[in-house]
Amino acid sequence: MNDELRDYLIHEEPYYRPVGDEVELYEAAYSVRMPMMLKGPTGCGKTRFVEYMAWRLGKPLITVACNEDMTASDLVGRFLLDAEGTRWQDGPLALAARFGAICYLDEVVEARQDTTVVIHPLTDNRRVLPLERKGELVHAHEDFQVVISYNPGYQSLMKDLKQSTKQRFGALDFNYPAHDLETEIVSHETGVSADIAGKLVSVAERARNLKGHGLDEGISTRMLVYAGSLIHKGVAPLAACRMALVRPITDDPDMRDALDAAVTTFF
Ligand code: ADP
Repeated sequence: MNDELRDYLIHEEPYYRPVGDEVELYEAAYSVRMPMMLKGPTGCGKTRFVEYMAWRLGKPLITVACNEDMTASDLVGRFLLDAEGTRWQDGPLALAARFGAICYLDEVVEARQDTTVVIHPLTDNRRVLPLERKGELVHAHEDFQVVISYNPGYQSLMKDLKQSTKQRFGALDFNYPAHDLETEIVSHETGVSADIAGKLVSVAERARNLKGHGLDEGISTRMLVYAGSLIHKGVAPLAACRMALVRPITDDPDMRDALDAAVTTFF
């Protein structure tokens, strides 16, 4: 493997608890180098899944957190000025394509559409990346794959993926795991007992039912992991839940009180 990519290899098995047949399906998708879209709310395990799959497949993983200020050059690369003059530096997408990594574009809709289109020639049968400024056409390495994450809940008409982008990908749906599974995950990730983890999950389920009724987004598995970690460190459960689960997701005093009340029914 090329030295440039060694830092991106994942050496230890990430803990990932499969929820359905996503591991097998992803393996099949990778075997035909199908670009993949992981759909689901924030904090439900998409990033952990792609880390696990990269480890399982023994491929380096280059992750890019997308944002609206990101330009095509941030992905593709640019000329840099140094003492000897100008030198080209590959961006993460070019690096992954050239040497054969999985390139994970997290929250891809945050990027502007004119940025996102740079992945188009890499995600159809051409599998090439034109570096226009440099005058080079990179033919993707056979190990290269693009993976994007996408939260359908957030989308507005202004911020959505173009159909021409969507239709280049296979997609897997992710959601918060079922009660017992999520309990197992929270307990494993934080060290709290199954009893406490189960109560945290119950609080989250209450909040998830309020999505669309005053809450934009429910309490995610990630938030439960934070709350569980605080409790494991000795923070009182009520305080941990208020800080890690309730305050971050609402500014509305009535909603905050309703969620605090939900916490007290379990703790
Ligand atoms: P996102 O969907 O935003 O990428 P993450 O992958 O970062 O979310 O998940 C947030 C946290 O939830 C992870 O760090 C991990 O602790 C936990 N998690 C969620 N689902 C799973 C799962 N199936 N197996 C193991 N951990 C999980």
